[in-house]
Amino acid sequence: MSNEKAILYDATKCIACRGCQVACKQWNQNPGEETEFTGSYENPPELSSYTWMRILFNEKFEDGEMHWFFTKHQCMHCTDAACVEVCPPKATRHVDYKLSDGSTITAVETDPNRCIGCNYCRVACPFTVPGYNQEKKGMFRCTLCTDRISNDVDMMPACVKACATGALLFGDRDEMIEAAEKRVAELKNAGYDSARLYGKDEMGGLRYLYVLAEEPEAYDLPNDPSIPIGVQIRKVFTSPYGGIALGGVAVALIVNGIINARNRGMEREFEESHPKVG
Ligand code: SF4
Ligand code: SF4
Ligand code: SF4
Repeated sequence: MSNEKAILYDATKCIACRGCQVACKQWNQNPGEETEFTGSYENPPELSSYTWMRILFNEKFEDGEMHWFFTKHQCMHCTDAACVEVCPPKATRHVDYKLSDGSTITAVETDPNRCIGCNYCRVACPFTVPGYNQEKKGMFRCTLCTDRISNDVDMMPACVKACATGALLFGDRDEMIEAAEKRVAELKNAGYDSARLYGKDEMGGLRYLYVLAEEPEAYDLPNDPSIPIGVQIRKVFTSPYGGIALGGVAVALIVNGIINARNRGMEREFEESHPKVG
């Protein structure tokens, strides 16, 4: 991932103003959706093909006080992307972009012309991200604003540009990691023992990095996100080495059959040489 860009979200600097959420809708010309009040300021309640990012208002009661743990929720653009692995027509894939300053960024995208709407990617995603759109016939998610940054990297992703508190930064991934590690050290010195950087290695490395003051669960993030086991098994059987795996299973079945037949023969011989009495 050298020479790659990334977005850093510092949850400890976020005030949940949702300027980023509005900027995302505005830049991508996504309409608002009708929602209901569910007892939380969090709105809308989930990502969809028209809502590519939202701010989560995770609440935790501690010592009689309510604490908020805000989280920016959108596609993480994983290196080991479950959605890419599981997609039957290979509509979802990694796409590399060269940016105006010579750096690169890799986005996960779905080709609407190839998507068959099976929803496998949504089920497989450990962050519950892609949303199928019946009218547009495709899966939609955060684009990393590659349309902005591949033209002019200084335009930055719209959500980053809109953030007034410095909770969102965009830059070289190495520099974002360095800034995040420095911030985590500050938080630990201030008594936040569980503070951590999230996204550096998770799912092979995410294009979104997070500074968290508490364990990921407090932010509704999986502690150890992974590709579901069913997807991993399918990957083994469809990989170039899948033939070897299938061959192994076939050999095991044949050997098992031979052993069973031999056992049945031995049982028959035993019964013939030991006739039942009475
Ligand atoms: S604009 Fe910045 S402070 Fe406001 S919700 Fe988004 S990340 Fe948080
Ligand atoms: S967050 Fe989900 S949809 Fe986005 S790349 Fe990772 S697995 Fe795919
Ligand atoms: S990078 Fe662009 S598409 Fe992705 S959440 Fe930010 S504004 Fe939305």
